[in-house]
Amino acid sequence: MKPIKLAHISDLHFSRFSPSLTQFFSKQWLGNLNLLLNRAKEYVNERPFSLIPTFKEKGISHVIISGDLTTTSSKQEYKIAERFVEALKDGGMTVFMIPGNHDHYTKKAERKKVFYESFPSPIRKSFSLATHGVITLPFTEGWHLVLMDTTYASSLISSTGFFSPTIEENLKNLLGKINPEENIILVNHFPFFQHDRPRRRLIRGEKLQKVITSHPNIQIYLHGHTHRRTIADLRLNQLPLILDSGSTGHLKGSWNELHLDASSLDLIVHQWDNGWKAIDHQSFFFESKPWYQKGLRFKCTGCGRCCTKKGYVWLEKEDITVLAKHFQMSEEAFIKKYTRSCTFDLALLDNPQSDDCIFLKDKKFCEVYEARPKQCRLFPWWTQNLTSAKEWAKAKKDCEGIDHPEAPLIPFSKIKEALEK
Ligand code: SF4
Ligand code: SF4
Repeated sequence: MKPIKLAHISDLHFSRFSPSLTQFFSKQWLGNLNLLLNRAKEYVNERPFSLIPTFKEKGISHVIISGDLTTTSSKQEYKIAERFVEALKDGGMTVFMIPGNHDHYTKKAERKKVFYESFPSPIRKSFSLATHGVITLPFTEGWHLVLMDTTYASSLISSTGFFSPTIEENLKNLLGKINPEENIILVNHFPFFQHDRPRRRLIRGEKLQKVITSHPNIQIYLHGHTHRRTIADLRLNQLPLILDSGSTGHLKGSWNELHLDASSLDLIVHQWDNGWKAIDHQSFFFESKPWYQKGLRFKCTGCGRCCTKKGYVWLEKEDITVLAKHFQMSEEAFIKKYTRSCTFDLALLDNPQSDDCIFLKDKKFCEVYEARPKQCRLFPWWTQNLTSAKEWAKAKKDCEGIDHPEAPLIPFSKIKEALEK
């Protein structure tokens, strides 16, 4: 599979100084004051626009924006953000985005969900980002995208997010519908770990962390909000690879270029320094999934054919114990009566009149079915049958249960379990 090239950008903070008398001493008024005194010196509207030719040149096909396109949620700022997103789309890029706290800056902006007036909420299978706070979208081979909106209009001087119990339920519900063998990129504006400044944290972030820990297929967590570039590979702690692109709209803005395929990620970090310059490059690998990752169909019909072919039913120590017990004889007596020695291992005897297994009766029934050896119990989940689709097709010629019309889909996790026995 050819890697998909995507850009992660965040915290663009398009701004337009737009005070009005009606805002006096409202949060928007404070935001405008802050813009005038501080932010206007640090953020430039042109910075994100300068990325468009760079993206085209690099062949970026997808752009993920993890919130804060605006500064005070004003109409004027949304107009600039709309122009930017349109330009990306005109450049042939698919854009996924979520709001940040600045996009629902005031109580009114949050109540009216103004972000979705400019950027209509994606809807899939009766879930909508605007209504349910979470949505899942198929992304690229082996990967799903989960977008979250945890914005909430906080008080005058705070910029917290809220992972509400409702969003938690919706998230769990949607994650439960994704094949656990598929990897997930979860996008949220806020980091889920505790922020060093409590007034900027995600309320109930620890609950989100718990959900993430119980879904190990969430391999990548993309966020913004902190304005700090972050690469934290926490997979050894049952957490994902966490990436914050830093603020892309800042004078010294940054963004992440991701080359992603089913099992690996090449990450290139870019920062503005009189032009966009690559400043870091790291590679990450994800557990590679075998060709049967989506499961295989099998149902034993009891035809008995697998017990008739000339071959070996190898016996492990436990098989001998179980079979000897089944016949109520000693292990020595069982070995003497029913097995043959081949080099250093023991195998069941064949029927002397045919090549059938000695325990096959009437060409169909296993006389020791409940006590049959591990090799028989695990068929057809043998390594040699699963090395490739070709080998699986070969095994199918001798076993009518493989891909049988009534066969259920055996999930990858069950097949893996059998292989590890
Ligand atoms: S050949 Fe396949 S379907 Fe037939 S008994 Fe063996 S496992 Fe079952
Ligand atoms: S022990 Fe039973 S299941 Fe295994 S090969 Fe013999 S007859 Fe078949």
